[in-house]
Amino acid sequence: DAKSRGGGRFSLFDHSRAQENQERLILERDLQAAIEQDQLVLFYQPKVDTRTGELVGVEALVRWKHPALGMVPPLKFIPVAEESGLIVPLERWVLRTACRQIQAWAREGRPQIPVAVNISQIHLMQTDIVESVLSTLEERMIDHRLLELEVTESAMMHNEEQVIAILSRFKQAGIAISLDDFGTGYSSLSYMHLLPIDCLKIDRSFIKDITTNENSRAIVEMILTMARQLELRIVAEGIEYEEQVALLRDLRCFVAQGFYYGKPVPAEEIHVCSDLSS
Ligand code: C2E
Ligand code: MG
Ligand code: MG
Ligand code: MG
Repeated sequence: DAKSRGGGRFSLFDHSRAQENQERLILERDLQAAIEQDQLVLFYQPKVDTRTGELVGVEALVRWKHPALGMVPPLKFIPVAEESGLIVPLERWVLRTACRQIQAWAREGRPQIPVAVNISQIHLMQTDIVESVLSTLEERMIDHRLLELEVTESAMMHNEEQVIAILSRFKQAGIAISLDDFGTGYSSLSYMHLLPIDCLKIDRSFIKDITTNENSRAIVEMILTMARQLELRIVAEGIEYEEQVALLRDLRCFVAQGFYYGKPVPAEEIHVCSDLSS
């Protein structure tokens, strides 16, 4: 036990809990400065055509290069940002940075592929969200088709009507919306067809054991069937093995994202991934 290891009166559990709380407090304290002082970094993960290996898009994923804690993953600080309201300035930074990158890639003469950014529910519900996104695109004269937004199912659950109204305006503006982590939330199938979305991203938890677990495979097949019926595009998340790619191809799921094709990397390293087919 803790005592026999010389751990004093705290158990290992208490210790790590305390550490976690302390880390959270530090993150809370430092986040504002991080947004203002350029400590955030945007990584990009490839979305790839499962038939050709061709790069068909990227997802922008934020990281925080904390001066003392090192690289902090989003799952640690996004919840902190959401609780404090800092998620709005944070995601505005993400949008601006992604747009700057789209412009930089265009200037390098690279094939134009869409960049997806994640939008939290709090940010989505801001009254000026559509204007704010559009003006960020206008600033750099970016084709609306080059930006996609990923929203989670849970973001859809509340204020259904308001969400539908906001998403419709994005759709009218030519900005595609993906439903992220699909299958993990509580999307009511009865209103799926009312949502003005373009794409479903099948959550990694179903893809993980798709080659070994009949249930996961059945769920994925069901999602694919529904997506076709609703004329939605599909992206499979969290592909790690060749066998998963082969099966998805058999199921006629042609866009995938995952460590098999590439982890999220800094923008400079994305060109490496675009040569997958060669
Ligand atoms: P997400 O949007 O579902 O992004 C995919 C996450 O799955 C990424 O984690 C990515 O690294 C990871 N992933 C991709 N392929 C694989 C794989 O093959 N295996 C495994 N084990 N993992 C894989 P990351 O970058 O740590 O981001 C985690 C989550 O943080 C994202 O999940 C997203 O919900 C959130 N996030 C990141 N950036 C933002 C942002 O700007 N705004 C908001 N609201 N959330 C963000
Ligand atoms: Mg996402
Ligand atoms: Mg996802
Ligand atoms: Mg996910």
